[in-house]
Amino acid sequence: MTWLRARVQFATLDEVLLARGTSTSTPRCVVTFDDGYRDALVATRLGVPVTVFAVAAHTGDASEPLWFDRYYDVLHRARRRDGVSLCELSLKGTARAPSIDEDLRWWVRGPLKEHLQTLHDTERTHALDALAKALDVDGCTTASELYLTRSELRELSLAGHVVGGHGETHTRLTQLDDHALSQELLASQALLDEVAPARMRLFCYPDGAHDARVDEAKRRAGFVAACTVETGAFVGTTNTFAIPRMLMRDVLPGDSRWPLELASLPSLFDTETPR
Ligand SMILES: [Zn+2]
Repeated sequence: MTWLRARVQFATLDEVLLARGTSTSTPRCVVTFDDGYRDALVATRLGVPVTVFAVAAHTGDASEPLWFDRYYDVLHRARRRDGVSLCELSLKGTARAPSIDEDLRWWVRGPLKEHLQTLHDTERTHALDALAKALDVDGCTTASELYLTRSELRELSLAGHVVGGHGETHTRLTQLDDHALSQELLASQALLDEVAPARMRLFCYPDGAHDARVDEAKRRAGFVAACTVETGAFVGTTNTFAIPRMLMRDVLPGDSRWPLELASLPSLFDTETPR
């Protein structure tokens, strides 16, 4: 945030959209937080305006965290950190899963996570329970520790920050039939009606998944713009239903990679006047 503050002007996503067509001498930067994590409060305490995309069924008031947060929590809390066979994890094969500490990448990006992704809710809950048992996990992190509550989201909105929709359950929208898709969008609308009434309707695709059908459903539901997980800058020619971002992923405090990546984006300091 400090690095950026010297180079950009912070803004919320609705401000940038409203200012389309006007030129600025300083590049503007929108800081977004997906999944409604409480981490957004770190930025607001620094005076940075934020745009938070909250999952309607998994705010801080929910009984359960999102499945992948529970999964990461299990990995974090595992007391048995190596020597687990794939069979014990309900995966095909006779090999052993690598040590969590030595090969975290396998656990975060590998076949087990992909297998969990394909399961239905109930099956996945059972699989996560079994995994927690196999890895000798003690305790769990609650939704209220991870996510902003509805009342906190409302306070953020009243203070000028932006709250946008991120679906009801964080399911990839492209996988859903028309009915389930509209259910996800209706739940987002209901959340925004409650916490950010009369504000511009913004959305962020869970896992970045969208196509022409999803875009059209969202437009009909009253959303005016949406963010993807593609890398890039928002310039005059950007489709407002496919706004790219710069992911702050795999970056540790003191790691200079992401500011360098940001600075190397050809369009970040583009002086092109938006339409
Ligand atoms: Zn998300």
